[in-house]
Amino acid sequence: MGSAELLSDVAIVGCGPVGALLANLLGASGLAVEIFDREREIYPLPRAVHFDGEVMRIFQAAGLAEAVAATARASSRGMHFVNAEDRTLMVRRGIDGPGPHGWAGNWYFHQPELERVLREGLTRFSNVRVRLGHEVTSVDDLKARYVVGCDGARSLVRRVIGSRRVDLGLHQPWLVVDLLCDPASSRVAALPDYSVQLCDPVRPMTIVNVGKAPGGLRRRWEIMLMPGDDPDRVAEPDLFWPMIARWLGPADAQLERAAVYTFHSVVQEGWRKGRLLLAGDSCHQTPPFLGQGMCAGMRDAANLAWKLAAITKGGVSSTLLDTYESERLPHVRTFIDLAVRLGAVLQETDPEAARARDARFAAGAEMFDYPQPQLGPGCRADDAPPVGTIFPQPRLADGRLMDEAIGQRFAVVGDAALLENLQTDAVLLPEVGLDWLAGHKKRAAVLRPDRYVFAVANDRAELVDAIAALPVRPV
Ligand SMILES: Cc1cc2nc3c(=O)[nH]c(=O)nc-3n(C[C@H](O)[C@H](O)[C@H](O)COP(=O)(O)OP(=O)(O)OC[C@H]3O[C@@H](n4cnc5c(N)ncnc54)[C@H](O)[C@@H]3O)c2cc1C
Repeated sequence: MGSAELLSDVAIVGCGPVGALLANLLGASGLAVEIFDREREIYPLPRAVHFDGEVMRIFQAAGLAEAVAATARASSRGMHFVNAEDRTLMVRRGIDGPGPHGWAGNWYFHQPELERVLREGLTRFSNVRVRLGHEVTSVDDLKARYVVGCDGARSLVRRVIGSRRVDLGLHQPWLVVDLLCDPASSRVAALPDYSVQLCDPVRPMTIVNVGKAPGGLRRRWEIMLMPGDDPDRVAEPDLFWPMIARWLGPADAQLERAAVYTFHSVVQEGWRKGRLLLAGDSCHQTPPFLGQGMCAGMRDAANLAWKLAAITKGGVSSTLLDTYESERLPHVRTFIDLAVRLGAVLQETDPEAARARDARFAAGAEMFDYPQPQLGPGCRADDAPPVGTIFPQPRLADGRLMDEAIGQRFAVVGDAALLENLQTDAVLLPEVGLDWLAGHKKRAAVLRPDRYVFAVANDRAELVDAIAALPVRPV
């Protein structure tokens, strides 16, 4: 095979969740993709258990929503931060029914299962070549127009780019354990259905109902290591079970998998150098207190996928890629900053400071939702939110979810009178999104292929200007 035949549009280093999703999105757009992972098998240790409704919508864009939903548990419940006396300090609210994205707002899952679905998804595309058991040792060897480093926290591609590490200050070892619980145990039945962040200064913990598993009901325990703990021994039965004796014992559950991780809060500056790009943990790491680290990587993939497609298939200038980091970095920072703030509430181990913390919430629990940050400056109108925020996904009159009618295109939604005879390649969806628009006192919105709001308008002239300002021809 000659080198010309080996040339792909995009080479992806790393077939973890972010690389595998990006390959699915690019595959669906018809790009020639080659994806490498040094391992043959999916990483087996406990990691992510939660993703949100926006990420489910990205799976939908990849044509994988049903397959993912079949392996995940939709939840309407939130996350409760409780102190040692069981008093609720903070609550991340749940969402009833389909949320703004057209899907349940919170999903619990087993990361290896999700990665299996993503890898199986790649078999749909003859234009995606999967190279497992293949370690990339030099990016120069990759015969591709673009190389995306989805190669995790120790990224090789990041080293080649020479990104600057910005340390956001949280580095704490935790023991992470998945338990397979006996459904017949009354103690298992008594566990809360919502996620618990136990803000006990003696031993902070997180407890999550992951869902059904072949050997029982999977529950996640994350347990902060305290001074004097031996990370090599802490998961051994004589040390582990006493730590959770208040809830369960070996008669109720078996230990499925355990690992000690140091949770980090880090962003990198420099997500692109020429044809090299980064996505996922290679360019940011979020402590898991919000269940948002992988979600951020999935949003990177959605942001990057349509831009790479527009450049390689739509003939758009590669300068569009300069908007990737400028948009995504402030967005992910918002989530990391919140996770660090929640970590400070949860990880307080000084009894005096914990009492002072509890007193701050004496008037009642603080309620909060996931942030919906604005993208940084980039491929959008230079305007205040809702420009640069994610547009919801309503159901259309014909019963379809909105994104099904748009595909990987730009779209214009809103007041039918404004949209009439509009000259554009974008998909026109008259009378769609009117509630959202009314809430923002707007009559129309121009949406990007990743459903972030490019511009809003109140009259025909504003809308025509917004469409004329689209930096790319829709592909
Ligand atoms: C305990 C814990 C709980 C978490 N909980 C959540 C949660 O609830 N929700 C959430 O959203 N996130 C959560 N996360 C974060 C989430 O697990 C990560 O953000 C996610 O796995 C990152 O995905 P990735 O694809 O960027 O990187 P990775 O999953 O690290 O994948 C990188 C891949 O690249 C491969 N690779 C690396 N170098 C090379 C090379 N040179 N050549 C070839 N292949 C290479 C690796 O083998 C690996 O398969 C949690 C993390 C931990 C540790």
